[in-house]
Amino acid sequence: MEVEREPCEEPPPTMMEEEEAEAIPVAKEPPRIHRLDQSVVNRIAAGEVIQRPVSAVKELVENSLDAHSTSINVVVKDGGLKLIQVSDDGHGIRYEDLPILCERHTTSKLSEFEDLQSIKSMGFRGEALASMTYVGHVTVTTITAGQLHGYRVSYRDGVMEHEPKACAAVKGTQIMIENLFYNMTARRKTLQNSADDYPKIVDLLSRFAIHHINVNFSCRKHGAARADVHTVATSSRLDAIRSVFGVSVARNLMKIEAADDDVSSSVFEMDGFISNSNYIAKKTTMVLFINDRLVECTALKRAIEIVYAATLPKASKPFIYMSIVLPSEHVDVNIHPTKREVSLLNQEAIIEKIQSAFESKLRNSNEERTFQEQTMEPSSSGPKDTRKDSDCSPKLSGSRSQKVPVHKIVRTDSQDPAGRLHAYLQVKPQSHLGKESDLTVVRSSVRQRRNPKETADLTSIQELVSEIEGNSHSGLQDIIKYCTYIGMADDVFALLQHNTHLYLVNVVNLSKELMYQQVLCRFAHFNAIQISNPVPLKELIMLALKEEDLDQQCDENDDLKEKIAEMNMELLKQKSEMLNEYFSLSIDLDGNLSRLPVVLDQYTPDMDRVPEFILCLGNDIDWENEKSCFQGISSALANFFALHPPTLPNPSGDNFQFYKKRQSSRNPQDEGNSSNSLVDDVVIEEQIDHELLAEAENAWAQREWSIQHVLFPAVRLFFKPPTSMATDGTFVQVASLEKLYKIFERC
Ligand code: ADP
Ligand code: MG
Repeated sequence: MEVEREPCEEPPPTMMEEEEAEAIPVAKEPPRIHRLDQSVVNRIAAGEVIQRPVSAVKELVENSLDAHSTSINVVVKDGGLKLIQVSDDGHGIRYEDLPILCERHTTSKLSEFEDLQSIKSMGFRGEALASMTYVGHVTVTTITAGQLHGYRVSYRDGVMEHEPKACAAVKGTQIMIENLFYNMTARRKTLQNSADDYPKIVDLLSRFAIHHINVNFSCRKHGAARADVHTVATSSRLDAIRSVFGVSVARNLMKIEAADDDVSSSVFEMDGFISNSNYIAKKTTMVLFINDRLVECTALKRAIEIVYAATLPKASKPFIYMSIVLPSEHVDVNIHPTKREVSLLNQEAIIEKIQSAFESKLRNSNEERTFQEQTMEPSSSGPKDTRKDSDCSPKLSGSRSQKVPVHKIVRTDSQDPAGRLHAYLQVKPQSHLGKESDLTVVRSSVRQRRNPKETADLTSIQELVSEIEGNSHSGLQDIIKYCTYIGMADDVFALLQHNTHLYLVNVVNLSKELMYQQVLCRFAHFNAIQISNPVPLKELIMLALKEEDLDQQCDENDDLKEKIAEMNMELLKQKSEMLNEYFSLSIDLDGNLSRLPVVLDQYTPDMDRVPEFILCLGNDIDWENEKSCFQGISSALANFFALHPPTLPNPSGDNFQFYKKRQSSRNPQDEGNSSNSLVDDVVIEEQIDHELLAEAENAWAQREWSIQHVLFPAVRLFFKPPTSMATDGTFVQVASLEKLYKIFERC
């Protein structure tokens, strides 16, 4: 390196140098543009299509499926770098086509661009085989129906290395790739250093195998006697899943279906198998086929994870197999070089419908299961039940002590679901449930029974949840369920469209209320955020008190603050057992905060607000009355988790000044120095604290992302808008499009 740099450091004196010394800019000669050699172009393109061994396997298996094979066998050596061999029993390749088989853009599947609209095959680019020949050694053996023998031919860089040789062959095609990436040193090294692709290949074949259940698949390591994937054609999807993913997965699956046929919103059919509350895994497995293509769809995956986390928090990493079929003209398959993603017409509407189908399926299943537990194990929670509040439902305990024969276990009755559950779960005869519709009763009961041992027994929580249900505004509910999020209108208001109306919605109020409802729903059943370095409560409270001082310009002395902080800390330490058990808020013996609850999945609150939250817990909770205590803690958590504007001002508004001024006043040389020249002032004024600015930009962008992708999807699913929101300025109708169009027509 140094040797190379030397001549630059001491260049020989030239005309150029003299010119530079006089600071006259010299236009450097522009570099020449030349046409890349075709082989370079091809190799670059190939590297994109065949990103790693598993991508080659995917292309080859898709070709075999396109060739209507009923049996596909894969053999892999050295994670695919030494050898990938895919053999099928499909229709084979014609002898006459062999010379151009591996040229770029040669395909039997597409002729006109328009064909893409109705394409049924997985391939269409005619690039996969060609690409493989640019980054590996490809040998094809194939035979077509009615031929006495097959042909074998090898390819390099898109062309045949020799004339096809006649050979013995079994029905179909065998494609062998050897020494993948032999000419791409960097990629080969990276792949060799990381864990090899074999597990990915097994996973890929497993996914294909549970969708194409009429095809036999096998996948094995070269030389291994046993295959790691081995399926035989079957007519039962569940059998296929059982044989690939195992009994423990298959036994915990439920069938799900959804469809829509409304041209103005969405047209699709979906069916699949999804895990129930007994399926516990570390990560989500989502096997998604759209029009028989194995694809990924992050938005859909996220939407489903949200439903699981809210409905079955303990089983929040589901297994999902799902096949979606749409009219082929609604799917754009041509958006990704490896066809890993597709783009759908009305994607949002489809995702929403699927989300609702999941929600009702999971809620129903949860209902049934919990019910069964309660009736079948009458004594399970009895003796353990040492809880202080003895407000246990008389009806509930009554039903527990009765021995119900298994065949008479009461499940949700589809004819009269509300009536049945109502009888079981209306905990207090004097509760406010009487006036509510049956459905809301069911819903609230279901929510609480998510964790029957703890929550069903706590009347106070049931009452708080019932209050939410009873106070829900159906008009607003309709708006949020079927609205489209347009964007943020300012720091606090989001713009929503519902039918032909536009609404401004106060995101802070909305999120606060959603979080409050979520806290009650998840009561005693939270996932937790571990704080890596537990924080002393006293310091947090001191911070909050000082912050308050700044706001109110009062000057209580520090001793007093210390005292307040000390007292609050002691109080919270006393309450720590309850806070931990019900709210996942952990405070250790030394008074350090070590754990916070997850109130909404995929969302971490603004940690700058922890001090304020802790102070509020210490100061504002009525610990004497159970119901108002829980309500107070829930509100404090809701306020902490709400999507407040970030503490740093929004740099994209008028507040940009903040980032300039701050810099000049922060500059220590400025302080007390009145002799700054005007020029200096200008220079300092122009300076911007880029670090601070970047931090603020990041915080605001992050918030906006969370509003769109976490808050509104969750609001659509779970939110019960309180009636007050219709009049307190949270929802404001700003325009009706019909009227706007009229105005624009006149322009
Ligand atoms: P594409 O699949 O996009 O057409 P490929 O490069 O993957 O492009 O394949 C080129 C052509 O080779 C295919 O269109 C198909 O006609 C033929 N082909 C490839 N693999 C097979 C196979 N296993 N069986 C039969 N034909 C095949
Ligand atoms: Mg192909």
